[in-house]
Amino acid sequence: MSIDTNLDPWALREDFPILARQVHEQPLIYLDNAATTQKPQPVIEALNHYYRDYNANIHRGLHQLAELATEAYEGARVKLQHYIHAASHKEMIFVRGTTEAINLVAQTWGRTHLRAGDEVLVSMMEHHANIVPWQLLRDQLGIQIKVIPVNALGELDLDAYQQMFTPQTRLVAVTHVSNALGTINPVREMTAIAHDFNVPILVDGAQAVPHLQVDVQALDCDFYAFSGHKMYGPTGIGILYAKQALLEQMPPWQGGGEMIKQVSFAQTTYADLPHRFEAGTPAIAQAIGLGVAADYLTHVGLENIQAWEHELLTYATEQMSAIEGLRIIGQAPNKAGVISFVMQDVHAQDLGLLLDQLGIAIRTGHHCAMPVLHHFGVNATARASFALYNTFEEIDALVAGIHKVRQMMS
Ligand code: PMP
Repeated sequence: MSIDTNLDPWALREDFPILARQVHEQPLIYLDNAATTQKPQPVIEALNHYYRDYNANIHRGLHQLAELATEAYEGARVKLQHYIHAASHKEMIFVRGTTEAINLVAQTWGRTHLRAGDEVLVSMMEHHANIVPWQLLRDQLGIQIKVIPVNALGELDLDAYQQMFTPQTRLVAVTHVSNALGTINPVREMTAIAHDFNVPILVDGAQAVPHLQVDVQALDCDFYAFSGHKMYGPTGIGILYAKQALLEQMPPWQGGGEMIKQVSFAQTTYADLPHRFEAGTPAIAQAIGLGVAADYLTHVGLENIQAWEHELLTYATEQMSAIEGLRIIGQAPNKAGVISFVMQDVHAQDLGLLLDQLGIAIRTGHHCAMPVLHHFGVNATARASFALYNTFEEIDALVAGIHKVRQMMS
């Protein structure tokens, strides 16, 4: 097997203390990276360092610790700005994660820009986080949700997409990479099409930022949402990127401290961007940790990560396709390192439980993407998803584990 990548997963594994642990007395084989990734030592250390050495609330304090904490928090924002190549740090709003980012857009931009009868286009393969916020708005405002279809391989039908625009279309909301199928969607092309109709586009980047070099200016998307914990950072932190002109037109999301200039009972004025959208004390340590995760990924190199994960995906697809009775759901040529599959006569949940006994962590269930699973005629799949620290040996162990389970069940 020729491996054309500059990434050494064995060396990188040393950075992830958890990978040395055992599960059920077996070495941990962690293949649930689409749910959340493990954390490298520099991220863990950044959290410790903050709490140990300079814990303080940010922005308002004049004392040294407050200054250090503010500097680190705002520094993290700039690191993330560079990570996705945004034009300004003002376009980077810290939120809890992708889910909160999309709800923010629905409840601020959506509530002020949409009316009954307006149409939002989402795709068949969306995570529930990019479906339910629009359904809440449908209940609140009477908007319509139209669904971009997928083909048998699990790719979006771009001809159908183009034909779905009407004078009522106000927003496209689409995932960059599907967590359930692995498909990488052509979001740049989809953005260009949306813009031809003067329609803005929101991209759910939760599954893209750990695997691909994302450049929001090159994509030209209007909103881009992602979570820190899927890109080797802490939970409870993520980013909503939005073009400054759009943020300027949006009313605040939550009200409280940090997001104001002046408050009186008669009238309140709001802070400048980006703080207008960050009410209350934010997740300071988590933001700092996420900045360090972005540094880590940049240091390893997104091209190297993408190349390595592609090797893993190709190898695993070959090995797993050869297993009798195994069907891979989602076979787009342009895929990230996700293999969703079902097995004849073995329920996904049983497979997950039995593999766990062998130390192998995969995910089973609907992956918060029920519509697309139903479209493929299944209620649940088993899903193995790869990260930069996974190896061919781990895939061999997964394949051997699946064979073992099959034997046990037959
Ligand atoms: N979108 C996609 C494509 C996802 O995979 C996920 C997480 N599974 C989310 C949104 C939601 O992310 P979070 O739970 O971190 O808000």
